[in-house]
Amino acid sequence: MKKSILKFLKYFGYFTLLVVLFALALVFYPSPESLPQKKGLYKYIITNVNIVDVANDSIIANQSILIEDNRIVQIIYSDSIINDSNYTVIDGNNKYAMAGLWDMHSHLAIQLAPQIVMPLHIANGVTNIRDMQGVVRINKERILWREQIESGELLGPRIIGFADEIVGDNYDERDVIQVVNRSAKDEATFVKIYSNIEPDRYFKLAKEAKKQNVNFAGHYPNEVNPLVASNAGQRSFEHAHLFIDYSHSASEKKREYYKAIRLEKIPTESLKVSYDEMLANFELQKFYELADVMVKNETYFCPTHITKRYEAFANNAEFLKDERQKYIPSIILNIWKDDVIGTKERNQKTRTDFYNKGLELTGLAQKRGVKILAGTDSYDPYSFPGFSLHEELAELVTAGLSPAEALATATINPSKYFTVSNEYGSIEKGKIADIILLQKNPLAYIKNSTSITAVFFNGSLYNRKELNSFLNYVEQNVSGINGMSITVKLFLRLMKDNRPSVRNSVEE
Ligand SMILES: [Zn+2]
Repeated sequence: MKKSILKFLKYFGYFTLLVVLFALALVFYPSPESLPQKKGLYKYIITNVNIVDVANDSIIANQSILIEDNRIVQIIYSDSIINDSNYTVIDGNNKYAMAGLWDMHSHLAIQLAPQIVMPLHIANGVTNIRDMQGVVRINKERILWREQIESGELLGPRIIGFADEIVGDNYDERDVIQVVNRSAKDEATFVKIYSNIEPDRYFKLAKEAKKQNVNFAGHYPNEVNPLVASNAGQRSFEHAHLFIDYSHSASEKKREYYKAIRLEKIPTESLKVSYDEMLANFELQKFYELADVMVKNETYFCPTHITKRYEAFANNAEFLKDERQKYIPSIILNIWKDDVIGTKERNQKTRTDFYNKGLELTGLAQKRGVKILAGTDSYDPYSFPGFSLHEELAELVTAGLSPAEALATATINPSKYFTVSNEYGSIEKGKIADIILLQKNPLAYIKNSTSITAVFFNGSLYNRKELNSFLNYVEQNVSGINGMSITVKLFLRLMKDNRPSVRNSVEE
């Protein structure tokens, strides 16, 4: 008996050792090399192409677009002949040329974003992003990526703006003045607001941010009236629940509820406001009140409807089977599974009503003049980097925007948000040559935005075959031994970064 226990312990010891060695091997297993941008000086003419003029909701037919290096240098009628052998002629074949798209609520999320996130963006024509930070602190990497993308080395969307700090998450105790000081050092950075920031800290931050010309954007704070937050200068509000949360008779009570929780008092039953109550007591007048203040202050709205979609479809087997999961690392897929299980416990009708009300209010907000931004919150359940931007555009059309208005949320509006309209956001002479060639007209039907035959990024041409190779590259990287190695590396990084001492540190 004793002998068999010893024998078992011996084999158990060997087994444990093997597991540890295997995990170590995965940690040191080299990460796949990131993809480079195409190098060289290019001169292209795209002939016989229809330009998608989003601002005027019209097609400018039969054009030729001349590209030199990374800029559009001229746009002429296709019939005018250019005899210059220095140009490579690309027959547009009566296709549609649309400006590169922006994802205004992206999460590069992890230290291996160049291997598993960025190629998905480019393959889907997403050429610029606003990055909203996440649990893993990728500040150092992201600054490096941004430089490498801008200098033409690394293949990935330009990181035009990014949150280098989050305040108001579960761990947050950072000195808000220091946070603003730090963001002030780099023009491209902003402070991300999360729901749990205390009102005193929020207003202190807002005041300092105004003084130092630093942007802050994100969730509206749970305890602060979003109308007041807009007046305090918050640059954008994220997620579709914003207007639902505010536009009902018990919104003040809801703020009291969060306050009681923060003060570790047990909130009385009377302070609780359920989703159903919010929806049942919706007040259109309150909605207009908030929308009008946002219009006045130019507070943008990034509803990320795509993230509410999975909640509405959590019981739909077809939806959950999405084959694009092959592009997502298993560690993220496991989080998705847990989220879906958690969601299923909530009432199906409430979830669907909430999702639909969100869409309806985004449509109304657009009509009222609120500036909308397309964002995906990718890596939230069933939000796929790159792909889901197109789904968000379709969501916005369901909400009541015209296809042109939806496309504006991913082209014109983001360029205005970052005051870079002279460089991006449309196909015009002098602008950066980020152009998506589409088989079909997206103004006629928004889902045509996915009929991508080629992408010009930074003046270089990537044909469909090359775009597909980017997708394959990501699929390879998240599967097999590469995938296991990535999972272990992500897991360790999460363990390292997701601690109060790290999350609260201002120094890097
Ligand atoms: Zn997010």
